[in-house]
Amino acid sequence: MAKLVKFGKPSGPLLEQKQSFFKENESRLHAAQQWAASYVKQPRRTTCKNCDAALGKGAFRKLGVEYMICTRCGHLNGAHQDTDTFCSSLYTEDGGASYGKTYVLDNRPAFEKRRDDIYLPKVEFLMEALHALGEDPHALSYADFGAGSGYFVAALKSLGLDPVTGYEVSESQVCFANAMIDKNAVTLHSPSDSVALGTSVQVDVASMIGVLEHLQDPRGMLASLAANEHIRYLYFSVPLFSLCVFIEMAFPEVMPRQLTAGHTHLYTESSIDWLCNEFGFERMAEWWFGTDMVDLYRSMLVTFESHQELACVAGDFDISFKPAIDAMQLALDERQFSSEVHMLLCKK
Ligand SMILES: [Zn+2]
Repeated sequence: MAKLVKFGKPSGPLLEQKQSFFKENESRLHAAQQWAASYVKQPRRTTCKNCDAALGKGAFRKLGVEYMICTRCGHLNGAHQDTDTFCSSLYTEDGGASYGKTYVLDNRPAFEKRRDDIYLPKVEFLMEALHALGEDPHALSYADFGAGSGYFVAALKSLGLDPVTGYEVSESQVCFANAMIDKNAVTLHSPSDSVALGTSVQVDVASMIGVLEHLQDPRGMLASLAANEHIRYLYFSVPLFSLCVFIEMAFPEVMPRQLTAGHTHLYTESSIDWLCNEFGFERMAEWWFGTDMVDLYRSMLVTFESHQELACVAGDFDISFKPAIDAMQLALDERQFSSEVHMLLCKK
């Protein structure tokens, strides 16, 4: 069967949504430094987060954190564990309000704009992929794990897909999502119930959009979804070990976005292949795109604007570089060197 493979995504909506990344560089860089200081205090990670092989020596350091590349599956691993304490300080303390702050916008028009700009294209790709496999997306049922503030659930519902349920560990995000969508759109559960939920939900399509990398036990979650006989498809997106990690190393004065905070490990094409083979999934459709060139643009612009002697070139740089972002990013996407991939897997 022919696989659906797509590359690229316009950067305009992202640039519009993430203006704060440009304006609040210093405070966000400081937050990343604090995260790194807390992360390096956690116990050593001894096995690969993706394939469980023993980890060897470090490949590089960034913000004082050591990273290793798994010699068996190619996954990029931070050298420390994401312990209960570390994860609860990131995701669920204060009901998750501080983590959600990055994403929660406080009014309906902003919610709907983010749903339509960022999440609707993800649902449209899923529907296109299901159609290509001979499925009627409207005849299938959906469960979204790590639903956050409910944007993906809202986008699924806005295209008439039903039934759709979201599951989320942050109470404040569940309240927000249900206020924005409807009262039972997203269900609260404890992080320790994730694997049990994966085994028990009775849906055709499970989704995890930007979630797998945040789970303490991604292998347990994948094993539970693989063992759940109701689930036929898994739609997920993960952050990748791509150019933007190198950009972050080259610009230490700029806020990092890819390898920081909850991203203590990153996927590669080979580590995704490993998980597909181990858990019995097959890659049916994929969409490679990224923010690498937006990150380079932001890193250069922030650097120019924060150094008096460079500030005069910021305007010229902006005018010349910005219109070329999408074409340059597409070249990276086509080489699968982009910061993100969306994939639809089916059971083998
Ligand atoms: Zn590995």
